[in-house]
Amino acid sequence: MTIDLPNPSARKGVAIMGGTFDPIHNGHLRTAVDILDGYHYANLKLIPCFQPVHKRQPSVTPQQRLDMVNLAISSHPGLSVDAREIVREGPSYTADTLRDIRAEVGADEPLVMVLGMDSFLSLPTWHNWQDLIKYAHLFVVSRPGWEPDLISELSRFCENYRAASPHELQCTPSGLVWFETLTPLGISSSMIRTLARQGKSIAYLLPEPVQNYIEKNQLYR
Ligand code: ATP
Ligand code: MG
Repeated sequence: MTIDLPNPSARKGVAIMGGTFDPIHNGHLRTAVDILDGYHYANLKLIPCFQPVHKRQPSVTPQQRLDMVNLAISSHPGLSVDAREIVREGPSYTADTLRDIRAEVGADEPLVMVLGMDSFLSLPTWHNWQDLIKYAHLFVVSRPGWEPDLISELSRFCENYRAASPHELQCTPSGLVWFETLTPLGISSSMIRTLARQGKSIAYLLPEPVQNYIEKNQLYR
């Protein structure tokens, strides 16, 4: 029997996934693993924000959200945590983060920002959103409950930047958008916070070490 292991030297490009991760859950993690393995990126960085720009300040600290991301990925090769937004403090503008990562990886490295359909639909409200595509590709993942109901600004954006295949995203450094349905998981952080507040079980929605951390520190009560 032969085992079809991806050749590490064939892995190319850096994928990143930003979020509040309040808390990180299996919807985030399964998406990350699907991308890493399905498209052979060299690695995928999860980037917890310090201060979300479009939602209420989380009830848990940035350090606690960071701890939970670390616990979630500790044993998974290829996944890493990038704490730059937490170190930077202040409002976490993705355009600033992508500009910094682009400067670090160099002009030629394929850089892919993964985001769910709900986040993509809100893109025109993001700080300097038109710059994002200059620094990275956008890999948009469908999310149960969110339809690609594009407002005209976004449909124009998609017409201009849509890739012909996902592999194109690994042949150029930035500038393309791709839409994909991966493992559809109807899990959200808000659902987990609500269950915890109601004293109900959050088991199997997120990794067990993260569940234990939430219970031990009595978060989201
Ligand atoms: P909340 O319920 O507090 O809004 P969330 O579950 O949406 O939290 P975020 O940290 O806001 O989690 O999401 C970070 C990124 O992960 C976003 O791009 C979001 O669209 C994506 N994402 C979150 N959950 C899923 C999921 N179940 N499937 C696919 N993508 C997801
Ligand atoms: Mg959300």
